[in-house]
Amino acid sequence: MYQAVYTGKLSGNGEFTKKCQNFFEEKYGFKKCILTTSGTDALEMAAILCDVQPGDDVIVPSYTFVSSALAFVRQGARIIFADSCKYNPNIDADKIEALITPKTKVIVPVHYAGVACDMDKIMDIANRHNLFVVEDAAQAIDSYYKGKALGGIGNFGCFSFHETKNVTAGGEGGLLCVNDERFIRRAEIIWEKGTNRAEFFRGMVNKYGWVDTGSSFLPAEINAAFLWAQLENLEMIQNRRKHIWNMYHDGLKELAEKKSVTIPDVPNYATNNGHMFYLVCRSLEERTDLINCLKQNDVLAVFHYLSLHKSEYYLNNGGMIVDLPNCDKFADRLVRLPMYFDLSDDDVMRVISLINGFYCGK
Ligand SMILES: *Cc1c(COP(=O)(O)O)cnc(C)c1O
Repeated sequence: MYQAVYTGKLSGNGEFTKKCQNFFEEKYGFKKCILTTSGTDALEMAAILCDVQPGDDVIVPSYTFVSSALAFVRQGARIIFADSCKYNPNIDADKIEALITPKTKVIVPVHYAGVACDMDKIMDIANRHNLFVVEDAAQAIDSYYKGKALGGIGNFGCFSFHETKNVTAGGEGGLLCVNDERFIRRAEIIWEKGTNRAEFFRGMVNKYGWVDTGSSFLPAEINAAFLWAQLENLEMIQNRRKHIWNMYHDGLKELAEKKSVTIPDVPNYATNNGHMFYLVCRSLEERTDLINCLKQNDVLAVFHYLSLHKSEYYLNNGGMIVDLPNCDKFADRLVRLPMYFDLSDDDVMRVISLINGFYCGK
């Protein structure tokens, strides 16, 4: 970061931005990577590049962060919410086809907790119906589907470097992967406020100007430098997070065998990237009691998304009333356990024994 300051180049698309982008392209084989100011912005860029317009439908799981839907709503799309799988919060690929209409343009699989959606099924549906796939890989850095890096399978992949994610660009940041070559040129233009500035700096044109829509989607070099420092330590960060995840898994699997709680299910085609460890309780009341019990012992465990198909904004803006029972189940009963790089083994053991104590005799 000091280096970024001393070089005097603080605005975006400088050395550190290029280093980060190259890192992702080389390590994960993503075709073209573009750093953004947030995961939300990466999704917004993808929505613009898919040319989503009023009259288009976009299929999004209801159990996700607002941005997975909002980026497309801003382009005027109607969102068709899909249910989660029974055993994990990801979109149920077997239920997507029934939601497709002549207006459907995009499917947005969200790799919840960094665990892959069933991408072969989703890509097959998209190919047969001529739809775009935008992977919301916000939580899915360094995670794979059948050996392919998440974010690199759909036409576009969107990552977040918000402080709650595995690596951060100093609080806020994101990355758009453009996996479909047809869109690389336009992506750079949209990124640089609708100008062909990137081509100018490569010497491809002798002046740059306003050629398309866009916004200021590029982060400052300070943020890119912060991210670069995290990427240099990626292996250490990932190993630590996976170690914590495995401790939780081993410490709580007996409870899961007794069916007191459900622990995360990582399908054979997916990997675990240590983003999150969660439990699914048997009822909303039990979850509330568990969260309170942990809180009394100074442990912060939190629930996660509320069903977007029941949100105030969606229902007040022409949203359809639909029944998505698996989504509602995760909204009511899922609880996330503490998971961060400096969490000590002792603290993890303490959380495990508090949870086992809570369920003792239940
Ligand atoms: C974090 C997150 C986002 C948004 O990323 P920001 O960088 O905070 O804009 C979008 N989708 C999912 C699934 C996320 O977890």
